[in-house]
Amino acid sequence: MQVCVLGAGVVGLTTAYYLARDGHDVTVLEGRGGAALEASFANGGQLSYSYVAPLADPAVLPHLPAWLLQRDSALRFVPRLDVQQWRWCVSFLLACRTHRARRTAVELLALGALSRDALHALVHDEALDFDYVRNGKLVVYRNPVEFERARRRMEPLVAAGVEQHALDAAACVALEPALADAQPLLAGGIHTPSEEAGDCHRFGVALADVLQRRYRVTIRYATPVSELVAPNGSVIAARTPRGDVRADAFVVALGNGSVPLLGALGVRLPIYPLTGYSLTITAPPPRAPRVSVTDLHRKVVYAPLGGRLRVAGMVEIAGMDPGQRVARLALLARHAQEMFPAAGDYLAARTWCGHRPATPDSKPLLGATPYRNLWLNTGHGALGFTLACGSARAVAEAIAGRTPPVDLAAYSLRR
Ligand SMILES: Cc1cc2nc3c(=O)[nH]c(=O)nc-3n(C[C@H](O)[C@H](O)[C@H](O)COP(=O)(O)OP(=O)(O)OC[C@H]3O[C@@H](n4cnc5c(N)ncnc54)[C@H](O)[C@@H]3O)c2cc1C
Repeated sequence: MQVCVLGAGVVGLTTAYYLARDGHDVTVLEGRGGAALEASFANGGQLSYSYVAPLADPAVLPHLPAWLLQRDSALRFVPRLDVQQWRWCVSFLLACRTHRARRTAVELLALGALSRDALHALVHDEALDFDYVRNGKLVVYRNPVEFERARRRMEPLVAAGVEQHALDAAACVALEPALADAQPLLAGGIHTPSEEAGDCHRFGVALADVLQRRYRVTIRYATPVSELVAPNGSVIAARTPRGDVRADAFVVALGNGSVPLLGALGVRLPIYPLTGYSLTITAPPPRAPRVSVTDLHRKVVYAPLGGRLRVAGMVEIAGMDPGQRVARLALLARHAQEMFPAAGDYLAARTWCGHRPATPDSKPLLGATPYRNLWLNTGHGALGFTLACGSARAVAEAIAGRTPPVDLAAYSLRR
């Protein structure tokens, strides 16, 4: 079958990979001049399969006033005259109900486990070079009450076989000596040795290369799709400035770009851009962390990527507005300075601002649409790198008419 994948971010490229391995003739269409240049470019680098809990959780409700009022809150809501923003926020609040949040966490854990197995197989089969490390993750807590709560939440996971350890502040520093300066701030941490990290952009570039060389996938860069031509309940072509591209099936993996394209077909996707920022220190001195560290209080992640240190964080519900960029990046640098003061020159870091294509309940949209041959693999929010391989494998299985390894009903448009 001829399959056209729309988007060459981490989600589109992994989709193309599993489709090509299934023997399909695959074409990828991408508006930008290269692979993984949008949300997949300089993200936090975490492959964090055990930390996939949704943002929408009853525990966030008491923090809502701070989101609205405090300019330096890690999560910020900037109200706009935008129906989509308000609709997304209402759905987010509904997703915070306890039973929904719990069910979502279980579903995302299953997709995370599938993604980890799929990524391991991909790395084994294709030997991609993307600064991939299995270095474990340490989530540090400043507040003793929150740490104790996390320790209690960990117990059923440990009983179910997940390897996690609760560490006091001294043990956190013993594990990650770069935390020594921050020790007085820490109540403790939860260490998950099996977590991984890598450079998402380098992963995308390396995978695009393998797709073209080994699997004969055609990738057309600088080819924005302006419209899907769908006269009778199925799509016949993707319209681009270079002409129409016809195929038997189409997969939408356009991240935030999925919304206007499908909106024009009458398919409303509940995706809203959640802005985040990152700093990349290119030559950190030896006192940079080697373990991935998450500072839960600040919602900042630190990932060692080859010889570099990636610092990422902040969530803004503010549309694509670039207005806060300078102030937010400065705030991120201050947070990093506080946690790892000797890890490098934060003022000389490379800066980036990206937009997570997020659904209100943090679950991606996977599978069928009202159009017979149009499929979704989009809306991965803060977890796109982590969940890309599992999502792509599941969608490829559904397109082949096989039963996917996770139940796609949980990720459908009408869930
Ligand atoms: C600050 C930050 C930190 C993050 N940290 C992590 C992390 O640590 N771990 C993790 O798992 N995830 C993380 N994420 C989330 C992750 O980066 C995203 O979920 C993921 O990159 C989404 O991938 P995608 O392929 O769906 O979207 P994108 O990477 O945005 O790809 C979509 C592609 O479609 C193209 N496109 C759009 N419209 C059109 C069109 N009309 N025609 C043609 N092409 C089009 C775009 O150019 C783009 O290349 C983070 C995100 C941010 C912003």
